[in-house]
Formats: sequence, structure tokens, C-alpha cells
Amino acid sequence: MRLEGKVAIISGGARGQGAAEAKMFAREGAKVVFGDILDDDGKKVEAEINEAGGEATYVTLDVTSEDAWQQAVEAAVERYGKVDILVNNAGIANWTFGDDASVEDWDRLMDVNAKGVFLGTKAVIAEMRKAGGGSIVNISSISGMIGQTTIHPGYNASKGAVRILTKSTAIQYAKEGIRCNSVHPGPVMTEMTAHGWRDPERRQLTEQRTPLGRYADADEIASGVLFLASDESSYMTGSELVIDGGVTAQ
Ligand code: NAD
Repeated sequence: MRLEGKVAIISGGARGQGAAEAKMFAREGAKVVFGDILDDDGKKVEAEINEAGGEATYVTLDVTSEDAWQQAVEAAVERYGKVDILVNNAGIANWTFGDDASVEDWDRLMDVNAKGVFLGTKAVIAEMRKAGGGSIVNISSISGMIGQTTIHPGYNASKGAVRILTKSTAIQYAKEGIRCNSVHPGPVMTEMTAHGWRDPERRQLTEQRTPLGRYADADEIASGVLFLASDESSYMTGSELVIDGGVTAQ
């Protein structure tokens, strides 16, 4: 198993990509603490993993709260003894743009998507040091690499912040064996993009713009996250893993 003996924390794990990662990590032998603000969904995922023979604990975690992060790390250490892996996956999108893009939405996007990653990283470093190293995987987006016209500019800015924060974290802690890489998904079929794929016209537009001609399944992103979380990527830090069906190759 690819994560045998590892303890992982995953944010935003109640649904979508985070839930796919929690399940995949548990199947690969990791003990998983995953947090979200959607407690009912989170507890369902927790039960599913444990019934399938995995080990996982759901915690309430608002990634904008430093205290909540501290509690999540404490839960991981109390239950499973250490922290080896952090996946900063929680995120929000906002589909207003142009003149409709508000300052309130900008602040919220930056809070959850960018500050949430900073707080998560800050919360795990001491435990990763104790464990002799670790792997942090930050979920950015192709929106952190290219400009887009039909999403709040704060989404692009927050994901660009995650991209460069990853490199800053990578070089800051490299000497301590703590690695940090970013993942840049293209369109993924989750609740976040439901307004797009539930609308036949919008869906067709996205599929036409994507060389592979379809949305990704959450597991196709989780596979990349698993690779970066595991020791298989031991010489990678500060790098960007693009999983976008070819969108940014055009
Ligand atoms: P999703 O909406 O299904 O899942 C996001 C999860 O984050 C949800 O469970 C949500 O409750 C949680 N969350 C939101 N705010 C939170 C907070 N303050 N504290 C804790 N949890 C919070 O969407 P997804 O597609 O699974 O998104 C996962 C990540 O991938 C996000 O960072 C997103 O920006 C990124 N991403 C998504 C796509 C896509 O097309 N879906 C593309 C590129 C990047």
C-alpha cells in the first residue's frame, strides 16, 4: 500500500475531490483525519471509509479559523500519533464576474482559498518536524495559472496565491524534509462546477474547450494528489502538477 504507516489531514473532505482523496488515502493504508464545514456529509464519508476497513476520523474544520486547524492537528496526534501529510483541498468558487464581482466575494475567496492554505500549513509544521518530515499538497487550479473571463477574479487571484505560497513553503522547509507541491485541476465534475455541467450548453462549451473532451472525475485528481503525498514523489518540492485534460496546453 502506497501510504502504509502515514497519517494524513485533508481539508474540505466531506464531498468532491476531498472525499475522493480521503477514501483513496485510506485504501492505500493511511490513517486519515479530514475536516469540513458540512458535518452530515463528512460523517457519512467517515462511516463509509471505516465500514470498508479503513481508518478515518471526521472533524469540523473551518479552514479560515486558526483554532479549528489547531484542533484538527490535535485530533490527528491524539488518535493516530503524528502528522505526515496535509492536503489543503478546501475551496470555494464564485461565478460572478466583470462589474458584478463584489468586494465581499473577493474577501471570502481570499479567506477560504488562500488564507485557509496558509493557516493549514502553519498548523502542521511543528508536528511534521517531530515526524522528521512530511508532504503538503495544495490544491490550486488552472485558474491559478491562466486568466479566465467567466469566474470571479478573486478565484484566479486566490489560486495564484496558492501556487506561489506552495513554492514559498517548499523552499522554507526543504532542509527539514517537508515537501510542498501544488495540484492544478482543470474542470472536475463536483458540486463546485454543477452550475456548468448541469446546463447542457455550458457543459458543451467546457467540453469543447478541453482537449480530452470531458470533465475529470474526482478520482483522476486524487490519483495525482496521492502521488505527491506519498514517498514516490520524494524528490519533488515546489512543483506544479497540472491535471487538466490539456486545457493549458493550448
Ligand atoms: P466541492 O465544492 O465539491 O468541495 C469543496 C469542499 O470544500 C466542500 O466539501 C466544502 O464544504 C469545503 N469547504 C468550503 N469552504 C470551507 C471552509 N471554510 N472550511 C472547510 N471546508 C470548506 O468542490 P471540489 O471540486 O471538490 O473542490 C476541491 C478543490 O479543488 C477546491 O480547492 C477547488 O477550488 C479546487 N478545484 C476545483 C475544480 C473543479 O472544477 N471542481 C477545478 C480546479 C480546482
